[in-house]
Amino acid sequence: MIDTHSHIDLPLFDDDFQVVLAAAREAGVSAQVLPGVIRNGWERILALSAAETDLFAAIGLHPMYLSQHREGDLAALRDIACGGGLVALGEIGLDYYIRDGDRKGQQELFEAQIDIAKEASLPLLLHVRKAHDQVQSILRRKNFDGGGIVHAFSGSLQQAEHYIKLGFMISICGTVTYDRASRIRSVATALPLTALVLETDSPDIPPASRHGERNTPANIVETAMILAQLRGESFDTIVVQTSANARQVLDL
Ligand SMILES: [Zn+2]
Repeated sequence: MIDTHSHIDLPLFDDDFQVVLAAAREAGVSAQVLPGVIRNGWERILALSAAETDLFAAIGLHPMYLSQHREGDLAALRDIACGGGLVALGEIGLDYYIRDGDRKGQQELFEAQIDIAKEASLPLLLHVRKAHDQVQSILRRKNFDGGGIVHAFSGSLQQAEHYIKLGFMISICGTVTYDRASRIRSVATALPLTALVLETDSPDIPPASRHGERNTPANIVETAMILAQLRGESFDTIVVQTSANARQVLDL
């Protein structure tokens, strides 16, 4: 399995990083993508991806931390992105779930990073809440055709289908393991398996059996199992196809 969105670079994993990584490998996680959200976190991600062959770096400026980004961060991002060593640019996007967020500022930041991704020929890792239509219209207006992954997708079936037309994979996280998550369950069942990838978003979004705990990449097994049940497909089918999809879109 490939965990396309894991934040094990965060301090929350400092005490047992190697234990968590070993448990992921033991569970069958063959690769993890570590997305960066703020400039002062990039160095650790780049160092980890250089040190471990199954950890891959993506870096970006996340819309939730808009007020913490500084002048010069975009130029630094461009230098690193164009220098190679990244599998994607992200996580970036729009978050309209935040109350009183600076939407214009988020849009400008997002568009500037799309330009960098185009220049560096990198796919995007998208973080989008309550702004799928806006993100899609920006991608179309900027003629972005580099594809990528919509992380922890929470939109409608129609919005998912529009992303797929734009060249994006839809990422399924632990939310799908909860009985009450009827919308994402029906979306994850209706979409073609060729459009799905898996993620944990560790340490967030633990699956149902680990509710309230710190999430770890090994828990991706539960998401794959539930997805297999919901779709009426075998666990192996889910694992093989979602891994192939992730490898294709990220060129792993
Ligand atoms: Zn994330």
